[in-house]
Amino acid sequence: MESYDYIITGGGSAGCVLANRLSADPSVKVLLLEAGGAADNLLFHWPAGFAKMTKGIGSWGWHTVPQRHLKNRVLRFTQAKVIGGGSSINAQLYTRGAAADYDDWVTQAGAEGWSYRDVLPYFKRSENNQRFANEFHAYGGPLGVSNPISPLPICEAFFQAGQELGIPFNADFNGDRQDGLGYYQLTQLNARRSSASTGFLYPVRSRPNLTVKLRSQALRVVTERGRAVGVELVTGSSRTPVVVRADREVIVSSGAFGSPRLLMLSGIGPADHLRSIGLDVVHDSKGIGSNLQDHLDLFVIAECTGDHTYDKFNNPFYAAIAGLQYLALKKGPAASSLFETGGFWYAEPGNKDRSPDIQFHLGLGSGIEAGMAKLRNAGVTLNSAYLRPRSRGTIRLPDRDPMSAPLIDPDYWSDPHDRDMAIKGLQVARDIMNQPALRRYVQNEVLPGRGVATEEQLFDYACANAKTDHHPVGTCRMGPTSDPSSVVTPDLKLIGIEGLRVVDASVMPLVPSCNTNAPTIMVAEKAADHILGRIA
Ligand SMILES: Cc1cc2nc3c(=O)[nH]c(=O)nc-3n(C[C@H](O)[C@H](O)[C@H](O)COP(=O)(O)OP(=O)(O)OC[C@H]3O[C@@H](n4cnc5c(N)ncnc54)[C@H](O)[C@@H]3O)c2cc1C
Repeated sequence: MESYDYIITGGGSAGCVLANRLSADPSVKVLLLEAGGAADNLLFHWPAGFAKMTKGIGSWGWHTVPQRHLKNRVLRFTQAKVIGGGSSINAQLYTRGAAADYDDWVTQAGAEGWSYRDVLPYFKRSENNQRFANEFHAYGGPLGVSNPISPLPICEAFFQAGQELGIPFNADFNGDRQDGLGYYQLTQLNARRSSASTGFLYPVRSRPNLTVKLRSQALRVVTERGRAVGVELVTGSSRTPVVVRADREVIVSSGAFGSPRLLMLSGIGPADHLRSIGLDVVHDSKGIGSNLQDHLDLFVIAECTGDHTYDKFNNPFYAAIAGLQYLALKKGPAASSLFETGGFWYAEPGNKDRSPDIQFHLGLGSGIEAGMAKLRNAGVTLNSAYLRPRSRGTIRLPDRDPMSAPLIDPDYWSDPHDRDMAIKGLQVARDIMNQPALRRYVQNEVLPGRGVATEEQLFDYACANAKTDHHPVGTCRMGPTSDPSSVVTPDLKLIGIEGLRVVDASVMPLVPSCNTNAPTIMVAEKAADHILGRIA
């Protein structure tokens, strides 16, 4: 039987980091399994390829169950199925959140050792920042981090509009303050996407002790007498499962939906749920698949006074010109992630007790993401998301078939506080778009539209249009063993089964106040030190 020291199930943001760090020791044999294929399409590498990513490329094609508090709407929920995972299909925004987010992991969730002071060195370890080198940033790491290459004049007007409303310009959201509007730094290097696979995996693919199996889906973790000893998997179109053995550990890195799904398929999860679908219970862990948190986006779409955004490049002729410009000069629309401008502010600007609780993403066009309205003329989109939701959802299995899509229920707005804050955030977004500085560029609000003003109308608008920001976390949360809802200990060992860890976005006990790729990479960097025994 094939055997390895470590088997990593999932080559996403976390899995690629682990594959690199664990195989750095030539005496250790590592297998990385990824259900998706290679990122061999140019769209994965050109920054503007993001415009196609929520429309089906390299993803599982999953949806939520009907959302009770959004008038039973079913929302599309893109999750990556390709090497590099989310980092190969995301909008490339490089954000870390506020120091208080990680301090809360310790004080509110008992995740000892994950305070901001503890995790900052791990953010810096991965970073190859092209601009900053200071207390918060470093260069020379595997992950390229750069400022936008071809920003548009409307971005500068957006910053001025913020200042007219009292929101300052911020040159670095990952520095000492998050507040303000500005350019995001992006996971890009030399005008190309810098994903976990291009940054961490490809440079080390030739290591003889690292095996990467693409189109290989883990069906279950094999356990013997309370210990994980291997993984059962299928590769390509084969339906015949094979088992590979793990002499040291199985590391589940299948993402916030994929990891609890795989554990439950292995009989590890809430016993009553497993029994209800006819699965034998190997280990009862009630926290697996619970505590699901996500950021929900609302948005304003406005019509521009002229071609001030990238909408016209949807036309094949202009798209060809953009492609040539990119190939020749590494500039222009194809070099833009389309969401490279935004910032952080407060739903209630009078209440600034902690860090900001609303995040903005300025979309340089309309209809960039699946399900968002596309205008006939040039448009601009301003997304707003409430960052610290109180609602908690679940992920469950519909049956015992490992090929069935999971039941994804974020239960958005089950806590009405989240709805109130989201609608307040949307109002701030509308206010920004209405400031004088943007009048040169923005003609009129199309969505929600002038007629949508009362609380009820805004609620209806939100129910019809809200979309995920793709930041699911928390479904295998870390915490102390004394808490029955903890799934993994702070060194990410699965409580109750030996030789098994979970390392990815699912272990975060609380969603950080930002996009979640950089935090996931940080989690994997620190996990590697735990696994290799460099820290307790
Ligand atoms: C459309 C989109 C836009 C986003 N935009 C941003 C952004 O701009 N900035 C940002 O910071 N974050 C963004 N995010 C979020 C961020 O990318 C994710 O939080 C991060 O990638 C999560 O990493 P992960 O390792 O937990 O999971 P993933 O990266 O999802 O990796 C899990 C991997 O495991 C594989 N897998 C699952 N099940 C199995 C199995 N049984 N066997 C084998 N393989 C399996 C999957 O195919 C996948 O490749 C975005 C996400 C999406 C989807």
